[in-house]
Amino acid sequence: MTEEVKKTTEDEMPDWSEYRGVLVYVEHREGVAKPISWQLLGQGRRLAEKLNADVMALVIGDNVGKLAEEAIAFGADRVFQVDSPTMHDYRTYPYSRAAMKVIHDAKPEIVLFGATATGRDLAGAIATHLPTGLTADCTQLDVEPDPSRLLLASRPAFSEKMMATILCKQYRPQMATARAGVFEALPRDPSRRGEIVHVDYTMAEEAVAAKVLDFIREESTVNIEEAEIIVAGGRGLGSAEGFKLLQELADELGGEVGASRACVDVGWINHHHQIGQTGYTVRPKLYFAFGISGAVQHVVGMQNSDMIIAVNRDPEAPIFKIAHYGIVGDLYEIVPAMIEEARKRKADAASGKGSKTEAEGGVRV
Ligand SMILES: Cc1cc2nc3c(=O)[nH]c(=O)nc-3n(C[C@H](O)[C@H](O)[C@H](O)COP(=O)(O)OP(=O)(O)OC[C@H]3O[C@@H](n4cnc5c(N)ncnc54)[C@H](O)[C@@H]3O)c2cc1C
Repeated sequence: MTEEVKKTTEDEMPDWSEYRGVLVYVEHREGVAKPISWQLLGQGRRLAEKLNADVMALVIGDNVGKLAEEAIAFGADRVFQVDSPTMHDYRTYPYSRAAMKVIHDAKPEIVLFGATATGRDLAGAIATHLPTGLTADCTQLDVEPDPSRLLLASRPAFSEKMMATILCKQYRPQMATARAGVFEALPRDPSRRGEIVHVDYTMAEEAVAAKVLDFIREESTVNIEEAEIIVAGGRGLGSAEGFKLLQELADELGGEVGASRACVDVGWINHHHQIGQTGYTVRPKLYFAFGISGAVQHVVGMQNSDMIIAVNRDPEAPIFKIAHYGIVGDLYEIVPAMIEEARKRKADAASGKGSKTEAEGGVRV
């Protein structure tokens, strides 16, 4: 027996008029916000302005008053602050219940989370309890104005070969997680005014089965998501040794080393450096791609860089389609030359000689 799929017409849309505004979950560690929180607040503001509605922030933790104030400085009109010792560390059960209470009382039409390990966990837990859907891992967020006020949550689909825009017509709130580094935060404005709502929510510690015994920090000093300069390498490096060379260049330029997945998969470098669909999304001022072909799964993680410089032996490599500057050549000739030039400039600057201008034959890096 086949069942006909019935399409919803505008007339049949439920009345969601009591749901208004955009709520952004502010993710933090020990009261220090993750950059994605302010990026999403910035995008939340842009959406809320189109909807002529407020942008709200949700801050959950222990002693997080400062963070609530920061959320206003980064664009929130109203902040819901859930403050309790039980909320000191992120745990799915108390955080999701507290968030559900705020969503129930504040009735936002849109709720946004970072597509981080915590954001994905929290949003997923909430979506299973609220009668609504969740679009995961979005790279574009827009809204249709009145009357539909629908969230247009877009994300790559079919191995990044197309963008899918997903709508949640039948339920509220509309929920999405979004990738870091895609949206721009608003400039911090400490003079902004907003309202902080202290949410009366407590949960006894005994009611929470999961206990946090300790946090063991991974031995990683890489902060690829916030780097302004990234020196990335791909399979064209040929071996793990190649990354030592890239690290030298990154050190000279004050940047971080990035990598394609091909290099992570063979163990030349660890996952903290991976950029792309299954790695980090980055937005540096300067991105060097050495020996990276430019597969869509890589490009999706770095295409928003302000300037992309690609070095590849193959003039047909797809990376050249998105690079602002391209050099066709062997990276093992070009990288050492760049390191030498950077060192020479530093030495000249230290000795007060200054480097050559471009007119004198100098190269601007
Ligand atoms: C579901 C899924 C998720 C994925 N997620 C990611 C992800 O997050 N990030 C990611 O990067 N990939 C990801 N991939 C893999 C992706 O499809 C590519 O396989 C990968 O990005 C290729 O890495 P590469 O460019 O380093 O290697 P290759 O495609 O092999 O390119 C190597 C390049 O180096 C050049 N080259 C070789 N020697 C030299 C030299 N001496 N000097 C200069 N150039 C040289 C070659 O011309 C070539 O263009 C994913 C794939 C799938 C299916």
